[in-house]
Amino acid sequence: MSTLLEVTNLKKHFPLKDSKLFSREKPVLKAVDGISFSIQSGETLGLVGESGCGKSTAGRSILKLINPTEGDIYFKGENISHYRGEKLRKLRKDMQLIFQDPYASLNPRKTIAQTITEPMKIFQLSKEEQYKKLGQLLDVVGLRSYHKDRYPHEFSGGQRQRIGIARSLALDPELVICDEPVSALDVSIQAQVINLMEDLQEEFNLTYIFIAHDLSVVHHISDRVAVMYLGEIVEIAEANELYQDPKHPYTQALLSAVPEANPHLEKQRIILKGDLPSPANPPSGCKFHTRCPFAEEICRQEKPELKQVSSNGQMAACHFVREVVS
Ligand code: SF4
Repeated sequence: MSTLLEVTNLKKHFPLKDSKLFSREKPVLKAVDGISFSIQSGETLGLVGESGCGKSTAGRSILKLINPTEGDIYFKGENISHYRGEKLRKLRKDMQLIFQDPYASLNPRKTIAQTITEPMKIFQLSKEEQYKKLGQLLDVVGLRSYHKDRYPHEFSGGQRQRIGIARSLALDPELVICDEPVSALDVSIQAQVINLMEDLQEEFNLTYIFIAHDLSVVHHISDRVAVMYLGEIVEIAEANELYQDPKHPYTQALLSAVPEANPHLEKQRIILKGDLPSPANPPSGCKFHTRCPFAEEICRQEKPELKQVSSNGQMAACHFVREVVS
């Protein structure tokens, strides 16, 4: 496998209205605050955390739907951070997004055929190619050819997400960023859509970044999982390692809230105190210290680095990682 995407020290800060006109430091909301990771071709990286942790902003920054404030993004070895205009337009072909709300992302006035072929028209595929591709895409996502002349309101939530997936595959992308693709769907439909995404990944050698707040969904589809808190990655590991042996207190708390499949097994829930602090005014040192059950003085003062904590490559950002897991 080769590295498809590498992100180093990616930041996305949004300027806020300045209440003090002459203050030196302009207030900013640090939605993404220096994340680094890489993804191999054909791999799925889960990106999880509470809402407001910056995972969707990270996804949109990587796709360059919004411009990152700082950091580098390498796609197939090329630094695309400063791509603009035609270069960026061409890149869009290789990197696509699947949206959370399939209904909101589909134009109610366009038929399914118009929706799916729209990106093909932009990239000037011939009419024959568009028609052929449309038939193939409807088939691979489990829709019938007669569906092409219908409108989004004529479909169920699961079918609409299949249409969204077909549209995202219209230009044969290599990387697909899936932003909470199943969280608006019923649990029974979620499994079908996840299975479809896995099949498509195998068939088209897709690489996924799978953004979600539901850790059980992420476990099923991901090879590795990165946990985000207030714009930073606090833990990253192979999915099984992370779920069986989480090292960071925040990951432990998130996992303790996932319902246990075996009703005979008791699980101790870790309740985090307080709410997620504002990314406009994050806590000093370890950003998690205001809610962490193990916080000590050093946590308020020094930011822990994301470092390797086991021989299998698991990484966590905590001053006491060895103590808190023992
Ligand atoms: Fe908790 Fe301190 Fe570790 Fe942060 S560094 S997760 S506050 S123990």
